[in-house]
Amino acid sequence: MWGKKYEDTTLPIQIDPTTGLKKFNTRAAKASANIAGKGYSVIDDEALKTLPPAPPGAVFNAEEQAKYHEFKEQRQGAADYMAMEGAFSKYLEDVYSASPVEREALTDECEILVVGAGFAALMLWYKLRAAGFNDVRFCEKGGDVGGTWYWNRYPGIACDVESYSYLPLLEEMEYFPTMKFASGFEILEYCQKMAEKYGFYERCLFHTTVGETTWDQATGRWTVTTDRGDRMRARYVVLANGILTTPRLARIDGMETYQGNAFHTSRWDYNIDLKDKRVGIIGTGATAVQVIPEIAKTVKELYVFQRTPSSIDVRDQRATTAVEIEAWKTEPGWARARRERLATISSGRTALKGNDDFLSGKVADFKERKEHATELSPEELMEKQLNTNFRIMEQIRARVGQTVNDPKTAAALKPYYTYGCKRPAFHDEFLTTFNKPHVTLVDTAPTGVSKINAKGVVHEGTEYPLDVLIYATGFQWLATATFERIVGRDGRTLHRKWRDEGTKTFLGLHSHGFPNLLIMSGPQGGGGQFNFTRGIEAHTDYVVWMLKTLREKSAGIVDIKEEAELEFAEHCRVADLNTRPLRDCVSYYNGEGNAEPGSLAYYGGPAKWHELRAAAQKAMDVYVFAPAPEAVGAAQ
Ligand SMILES: Cc1cc2nc3c(=O)[nH]c(=O)nc-3n(C[C@H](O)[C@H](O)[C@H](O)COP(=O)(O)OP(=O)(O)OC[C@H]3O[C@@H](n4cnc5c(N)ncnc54)[C@H](O)[C@@H]3O)c2cc1C
Repeated sequence: MWGKKYEDTTLPIQIDPTTGLKKFNTRAAKASANIAGKGYSVIDDEALKTLPPAPPGAVFNAEEQAKYHEFKEQRQGAADYMAMEGAFSKYLEDVYSASPVEREALTDECEILVVGAGFAALMLWYKLRAAGFNDVRFCEKGGDVGGTWYWNRYPGIACDVESYSYLPLLEEMEYFPTMKFASGFEILEYCQKMAEKYGFYERCLFHTTVGETTWDQATGRWTVTTDRGDRMRARYVVLANGILTTPRLARIDGMETYQGNAFHTSRWDYNIDLKDKRVGIIGTGATAVQVIPEIAKTVKELYVFQRTPSSIDVRDQRATTAVEIEAWKTEPGWARARRERLATISSGRTALKGNDDFLSGKVADFKERKEHATELSPEELMEKQLNTNFRIMEQIRARVGQTVNDPKTAAALKPYYTYGCKRPAFHDEFLTTFNKPHVTLVDTAPTGVSKINAKGVVHEGTEYPLDVLIYATGFQWLATATFERIVGRDGRTLHRKWRDEGTKTFLGLHSHGFPNLLIMSGPQGGGGQFNFTRGIEAHTDYVVWMLKTLREKSAGIVDIKEEAELEFAEHCRVADLNTRPLRDCVSYYNGEGNAEPGSLAYYGGPAKWHELRAAAQKAMDVYVFAPAPEAVGAAQ
């Protein structure tokens, strides 16, 4: 049986006998040593961590709707981003690790090949190992594990979901995060600890970018090539390549002429000392909101170039208490229970604020629920949601007015769109940063920075000379280059199929014509919510279930029926359209307003996704299983 053959395979990743280092080497820890900002600070001033009340009677009436509409329309078409290619590919270099260790190209075969070494891959390995799958190989572009938390090491980086629920396997790891919203550096170290504990390092090829990956129908295998000259074969390929992995740059005239130091936030260059420097940062999204208060503590002058303001909600950071740790030690499954409770909260803002009493099980609910005499129609429900959302945004805008001294700066920092439409940001020091005399907000609304020259940024005739320019211009959302290199049964890439026919998947996990490919966290992949590792958990469970099912059936090939993905894609489209009023702004979540309905994230809600998944797993009628070629051979 093919299954047996794979079990005893030994992978060729070794320890170098002279240095004692693993063959892939890494200096991740060394790069972390220079970092000053350690995430959100604990703030004592109550006024800074309280939202003012919404004005009485605030409703999302026609006048307010028109204001939102105008805000969006002004920015429509302004978002022009580009990939980091040619002269800009230098911004993609891995600045965290030593040069790749030389190794021989691999031409062998494994049962399961996984792209990526972030949380999805780490969790998948934990579960595959427990289920008895051993012949598993991981390929990772970076020099160590962590994914998001490997690449993003900017000052101030922290988790925006409470870490007691975000970090997976806390009980198994016997680990207690030090802060409610752990810093990115703590999370990176946690990933490394997970990898050490479960033997992940022995199975991962670092500094290895997966390239063309082609399905071979005759052998029932994938041929996987990499930038290290590998040409491996794998029965199954799992994409754990992340949702926000490919950094992007805003397209700005003259940017190639800039003579100072420049980098993207996801490749923070700690060799450049910002102390006493004139620094500019382009972008004010969720990353910039964490960076700005930290670097403002060091630099001589800081210029923040903003096109669209973020919504800055209260963070209320705190340290984990000794009492909590003692209680958790005596409470098996404490983190699992907490994560489950978090997952029951459907409002993103409530979930991200992380009410301790509810999450720790001290109270049964996180808010007083009002019973409605009559059930609301979908239209009434939407109106209610929009009004609630509007009141939250009024509070957020009131907080800006209350905190920022300069009225012009305060006005520019007020966002006019629905809460959650752009990635919500949280900070208790961001707004006060603009009261510092050496910090200047340059409002470039609505079109953004239009010119960069050799000395710095030019906006509306004013030149801002800079020693360092930081691009906080974000990432491509659900659009990794990997999709352009997966070649299915008919010779087309996944990207091409989706471009020609529209995005079509089943549960986001399968796409017809791409047998034995399992896509974690791709477009249309639901099951999670604001806590991203929750979705990853659902996807890893599914992948392991599918691989076990294949074994049980003595099948070696699985594909999804075309009609199943057509139906699911239509469901995604309708779910997207139904919830659009809550996401009516220009955002990367909706492809800057250009994405086809249903082509990006899944908007049907976790309960619906799980219902569809469970139904498919029970009925088994959406899958096409086939024997592996060896099994066919053996039977002849
Ligand atoms: C700055 C930032 C902050 C975030 N904060 C939060 C938060 O507070 N809460 C939350 O829930 N989520 C957050 N997220 C989302 C975060 O991405 C997920 O929580 C989670 O870490 C994703 O894990 P992953 O393993 O799926 O993907 P990733 O962590 O992105 O890992 C994917 C890995 O795949 C590798 N890869 C990609 N393509 C290839 C290829 N072709 N070959 C080889 N390797 C490849 C990449 O190098 C990367 O290391 C944040 C994201 C960013 C960018």
